Amino acid sequence: MALAETVFRLEQLDSDVEARETALRELRRRAQRNPGLETARSVLDRLAEKESAAAHENRSAEADLADLEARIKKTRERMYSGKVVDPRELSSLEKELQHWATRRDELEEQCLQAMDELDSLREEMARAKTRLEAVEREAEAARPRLAQLEQEAANEIARLRSERQPLLESIDPRTRNLYESTRKSMGHAVSQVSGGVCAWCHVSIPAKDLQHARGNEIVTCPHCRRILYVGP
Ligand SMILES: [Zn+2]
Repeated sequence: MALAETVFRLEQLDSDVEARETALRELRRRAQRNPGLETARSVLDRLAEKESAAAHENRSAEADLADLEARIKKTRERMYSGKVVDPRELSSLEKELQHWATRRDELEEQCLQAMDELDSLREEMARAKTRLEAVEREAEAARPRLAQLEQEAANEIARLRSERQPLLESIDPRTRNLYESTRKSMGHAVSQVSGGVCAWCHVSIPAKDLQHARGNEIVTCPHCRRILYVGP
């Protein structure tokens, strides 16, 4: 194999390894983080917080109502006990009862509203829980396939690397340095010549250079400085 062809193949393998490494990282990221699952969990958590606050509000409105009812009962008992005979005192007790009756209506309304809110939050929570369970099942079902894909990608990378090693070792150090530094600075080190033109920058390559490149010499493009590979 001519030197330029070896470098060309080396770059194909390196690009292939890089692409597969990127794909493998993406697979690993997907295995570790599942945005759908995280969203479903946080929706349920937020609803649970709301539900707990609404339940607290409901209990406290119910306790206030029970308190008030006890006071109303006590006042009524006192009014009708026959022990209070002063008309002014009776009238003030009457007013107190009226005031508390209004307050009781308000509290009853509050309790009903809190119950309604609690009911609808609990329905919403049940739906969110069903959704989370479905997403969890999906993630669980996808796990073996993801693991298999990860394993396949890792095996393929290992295979490509073992194919790359003898190619790399067959290249002289000077060419290897040129290849590595060009690839590092320009992303791509080798350009194929097609129809006498550098495929990368479309500059015509002198016939003498083409001849050298076909042989065992390294020729770079006069314009983009990439190593030229003249195909078979
Ligand atoms: Zn070029």
